Parts: sequence; C-alpha cells; structure tokens
Amino acid sequence: MKKISKIFFSFVATLTLLTLASCKGQSVAELDVLEQAKENNEIFWGVKYDTRLFGMMNIATGETEGFDIDIAKAITEEILGEDGQATFVEVTSKTRIPLLKNGNIDSIIATMTITEERQKQVNFSDVYFNAGQSLLVKNDCEITRVEDLTAEHTVLAVKGSTPAENIKIAAPDAKVLELENYAECFTALQSGQGDTMTTDNAILLGMSSENPDYGLVGGTFTEEPYGIAINKGQDNFTKAVNDALAAMHENGKYQEIYHKWFPDNDDGMA
Ligand code: GLU
Repeated sequence: MKKISKIFFSFVATLTLLTLASCKGQSVAELDVLEQAKENNEIFWGVKYDTRLFGMMNIATGETEGFDIDIAKAITEEILGEDGQATFVEVTSKTRIPLLKNGNIDSIIATMTITEERQKQVNFSDVYFNAGQSLLVKNDCEITRVEDLTAEHTVLAVKGSTPAENIKIAAPDAKVLELENYAECFTALQSGQGDTMTTDNAILLGMSSENPDYGLVGGTFTEEPYGIAINKGQDNFTKAVNDALAAMHENGKYQEIYHKWFPDNDDGMA
C-alpha cells in the first residue's frame, strides 16, 4: 500500500512539474501581448538612450526624452488610458530585435527602419516618421557628398543599423568602422578615428545641433521609414498600435509631438 501511494505521489508530482514547465516554456509568440499589457496596465518599450531628439537619457532628471519616447507615451495612453504605464528599456541598434524576441520588451520604438529583411523577423506598425541616410563631417572636411568617399576614407557607423549596410553599397571603396552605439560613434568622429559618420539625417541633426563644429553634407541617399516593431504573431497588439497612431493623427497629438521635436521641419511627417 505504502509503495502504491509513493508511486502515485511521484506520478502527481511529475505531472505538476511538467505542467509548470510547459507554462514557463510558453513562447513569447503564444502570449497575447495586448491582453497582458491590459492586465498589468503597462507596456514595455525598447528605446534608445543615446540618440538626441528620439531617445536620450537626461542624467539630471533620470528620464529618457525624445520623439520616440513621447510617441510611445501617447500610444500607451491611447491603448491603456491615462493611468497606463509606459516603461522604457534601453536598446541599441544591435540589441533591439533580440530583446524583443526574448520577451524583455513588448515593442521597439527606436529610430528603426522598416526593411524586408527585418520583416522576416518582426511585425512593423505603419510608418510613423520618414528619415533618410546622410553624412556628418567636421565643418572643414573635404567630403561634401557620399560620392567623395574613397579607399582613403573611414566611415563610422553603428552595428546592426541599416546605414552600416547601405554605406557599403553607396561607397564601396571606403573603409567602414562599426561601433556599438551612436554616442561611441560620435566620440570616434571627434577623436579622428573616422573621416565621417553615417546614419539617418534626423539622428545626425541631433548631434550637429549640439555640436556646431559638425554638419550634415550631401543630402540623403536612402529612404528610412521608421516603424514600431512588435513580435510576429502579436496581431492584436500590432492593430492596437496602428489604431492608436491613427487616432493621434486624427486628434492632433501626433502633430503636437512632431512640432515639439522638429519645429523647423514639416517634411519628415508621416
Ligand atoms: N534607421 C536606421 C536603422 O533602423 C538607423 C538608425 C538606428 O541605427 O537605429 O537601422
């Protein structure tokens, strides 16, 4: 009798463990992110911490600030209501998709271009900002456009970004030095490790406005439409984000945020 109850107990214990394991092992794609966000009244956003105008940590206040941050807050409010919590997690161009895939964040809003390659891995919202790739140089630099770049030049770019790939096509002879993030990239430009740095015009604009010795040259040579990335399979959440964006265009919230960060520019408005 004792033996039978022991066997029965261990059978129940194994079954319980298996059930727990399968719950824990539930993949990110199986959870409904929208349902979860509503339950917890919170959305986790992957954002940049070092990109002026889009996502920048203000050391004095301990808050992240920028266009992406304000758009994320407004979408959170549209989806969850006024008391909804937008929680920000730092990502870089290289880490953002892995952090989304691992379930560390619900969504990426981080100067991210919609590309076919990325669409194989993630869902994208509708376009919420239009940028284009450009070059940043020191004011006295001889480079005035992408066609000027030769084997003598080193271009600085960020790992995992589309500009790091595009530049290899636009300036095939130039050397490309890839760094971890935009802060490192600009420091490398200042210390002469490269002749120019390349990324989206809107990001470079944030750097030149703070550092007047540096300016953009040559206009734009790619199109970089920004989208909000969400895990594949999260169609409810993708729809909720698109509905929120549409509502913000309707009620003027989008335009208000756009003009706050880009008062002199009406072009990039999606
Ligand atoms: N928009 C480009 C990209 O998605 C460059 C900006 C960035 O590195 O986040 O890669």
